[in-house]
Amino acid sequence: MIKDFEKKIKAYALKNALAHEGKAMQGPVISSLFNEGLKREEVGKYAKKISEIILEVNSLPVKEQEKEFEKLEKKVHEREVRKGLEELPNARKGVVMRIAPSPSGPYHIGHALIFSLNLLYVNKYGGKFYVRIEDTNPENIYTPAYRMLKDESKWLSKGKAKIVIQSERMEIYYDYIKKLINKKTVYVCTCSQEQFKEFIDKKKDCPCRKNSLKENMEKWKKMLGSEQVQASSSKRERDKNGFGEGEAVVRFKSSMKDKNPAMRDFPLARINLTKHPLQGNKYRVWPLMNLSVTVDDIEMKMTHIIRGKDHRDNAERQRMIFNVLKKKFPWTAFLGKIHFKDMELSTTKMRQAIEKKEYKGWDDKRLPTIASLKKRGYKPSAFWKFAEQVGLSESDKVMDREEYFKLLDNFNKQ
Ligand SMILES: [Zn+2]
Repeated sequence: MIKDFEKKIKAYALKNALAHEGKAMQGPVISSLFNEGLKREEVGKYAKKISEIILEVNSLPVKEQEKEFEKLEKKVHEREVRKGLEELPNARKGVVMRIAPSPSGPYHIGHALIFSLNLLYVNKYGGKFYVRIEDTNPENIYTPAYRMLKDESKWLSKGKAKIVIQSERMEIYYDYIKKLINKKTVYVCTCSQEQFKEFIDKKKDCPCRKNSLKENMEKWKKMLGSEQVQASSSKRERDKNGFGEGEAVVRFKSSMKDKNPAMRDFPLARINLTKHPLQGNKYRVWPLMNLSVTVDDIEMKMTHIIRGKDHRDNAERQRMIFNVLKKKFPWTAFLGKIHFKDMELSTTKMRQAIEKKEYKGWDDKRLPTIASLKKRGYKPSAFWKFAEQVGLSESDKVMDREEYFKLLDNFNKQ
């Protein structure tokens, strides 16, 4: 801070000197400094430094003064044009950060932004960068996305990203559920969705909230089913020894009176018998996002999280689970949404259009996917620079295609 201020004093001294045949005067330099935030009561504190700098400047030949001034101006100017990344708190010793794409499709320009922001911070402070593929909802998976997300993560991070697949970590999530049952902070709820909705509306506890530890453990086992149940293909056979789909969920005991209805005893795990593209029928119980994210953020020792503003409620739910497990919640920033006008960013819609042969593939040059932009010759650093320019802003922005590509083209040339 002080160093910066000294540079400013020197810049104004040089400017004043150059306007007056090489001799700067204290009065005009000090009045210029008022514009830079110098307060009247601080003049005394800086007076000595200011006269020292003026003496030093005045001792230089005019040619030297010109050179010095240009050098300083350029530095100040560069900083104004590109401020660089805002600092993160408690990051000096390194950071562990992540992004968590869903394998419903490959990356598009919106993903590239949040990907790059996280990566830039890991590169700035040192540390680890995880790409965690969130595939614990077996219904929402586009199998080729696994390979695309892996390849594109490597490309976009120049090899820095460490890829993790959540469906390969199921036993860890199950362990945490058992831990939470033992802590009596979750329960197995067998109410129907409609019933539970009514409890939420009336701020009333559901009867399952009173399950004993033993009852919860038994019901949890019934959710998992026996090995025999898991192997059996008929629904009737599975249901005989365990709960069926939709018959039981694990709920977190937050409070049924929370002023935000979305926080009231939210679910952490459910039964889904859809065949998973990687795991097949090995698992019946799948963790919901708030559980798997919390477990992984704890296990991977996440220090800082940058996420979309739309995840505010989820962050709050995750913080509650962190608290009961007595873990420190990572520092979190919320990003505003960039609404890319005249560009379709829904991977589901893109996929349908590709299947209808409206596009040649994910790398069709008309699509705003990373596959397409990579093929068109954009380099990872162009996306990084775009992210750096946007920074950690919480306000929403609207950007059209032309504006986006003008910026990206410019960054790509640099
Ligand atoms: Zn219930």
